[in-house]
Amino acid sequence: MINEQTQLIKFAEQAQGLEPLQQLKLILFATGTKPSAYVLLKTDGKNLDEKEHFEQHLKHNNIIYETSKAKSYEEIKDIRGNTVRWEIKGTWHGYDLFHTKTARQGFHNYKKFLKEQKHSIADKIAGKLYGYPDCCMNEYTKEHNINYIKKKYTYYSFYKRMYENDRKFPFIAHYPCSSHCTATKKLNNHYSTIIRKNAPAFLKEYTKKHYVSTALVVDAESNVYDDNAQPLWEKKDAHDYSLITLKPVNKHHYMLSHLTKALLLHGTIVTANIIMTQRWADVRIKALKDFIKDFHHERKFLVTN
Ligand SMILES: [Zn+2]
Repeated sequence: MINEQTQLIKFAEQAQGLEPLQQLKLILFATGTKPSAYVLLKTDGKNLDEKEHFEQHLKHNNIIYETSKAKSYEEIKDIRGNTVRWEIKGTWHGYDLFHTKTARQGFHNYKKFLKEQKHSIADKIAGKLYGYPDCCMNEYTKEHNINYIKKKYTYYSFYKRMYENDRKFPFIAHYPCSSHCTATKKLNNHYSTIIRKNAPAFLKEYTKKHYVSTALVVDAESNVYDDNAQPLWEKKDAHDYSLITLKPVNKHHYMLSHLTKALLLHGTIVTANIIMTQRWADVRIKALKDFIKDFHHERKFLVTN
C-alpha cells in the first residue's frame, strides 16, 4: 500500500488545478521540508472533484488547513482584431496549510500584525512560518519603504534582479535579498534535492526548456509608484513590457515579461524566439512586423462567491 504522504505528493504532481509553483510548494510542504505553505487550487468544469480530493488527502495526512472563499479567475479567450477578449474560466481557493497548531497560531498572529500595519514583526513571523532566510526577510522589510527602493535600484536593476532570481533560484518562493544570497542558494539546492527524490516526474516537467518561435503583441509597461501614485523613477533606464502571444501556444495566450533598453510602442507585433520553462521565459525579439491600432483588453466583471 502507498502511504498517505506519497499519495498527497502524487496528487500534487497530477492535479490539473495546481499551477507549477503551487505544485512545487505543495510537494515541499507534504515532504515536511516547508513548515507551512499557501497553495492555490483552481477548479473548472474539467476538475470539479479535485477540491474534495485535495481535502481528503489533507485530512489523511493530519494537515491543518484553512481555505479562502471561492474567487473567480479569467483567462484570455482569443485576440480578435485589436481586442484581447477574456473569459471567466472557473474558481480558485487559497489553502493555508500547517503541520502543527503552533504554526497555525503563528499564522493568525502574522495576519493580526499585518492588519495593524506592523510590517517588520509580521515579516519576521512569516519568515519563520514559511522557512525564509533571515537576511532575505530583513531586506524584504526594508523594501516596504519605497524611498529605500528608489535609492537602491534603477528601473532596470529593479526588474533585472527579479528575473535573475527566478532563473537562479527556481525552487524558492521568497524574494532573495540578492542574487548572491548564500542562504537562498543553499535552500534552493536543498529543495531541488528533495524534489528530485520525491517527485522526479514533476522535476522533469518543471525544469524542461521549451523553444517556441512565434509572434507577440506589445502590451502594457510595468512601473513602480510612490506613495503619491507617481512613478518612482523620474528617468527610466529601460522598459519592462508585457508581451502577449498573438496565437495560442499550447492552447494558451501567454503574457510574458520582457525587460529591454529598447522602446517598443504599445500594439506593436514582434516576432521572437522564446525559451520557456514553467518558472520563467526569455523572449528574444527577432523583428518588428506590424502594428495594431488601439490594442486593448475586454474583461468581464469578476464575480466573488
Ligand atoms: Zn538572503
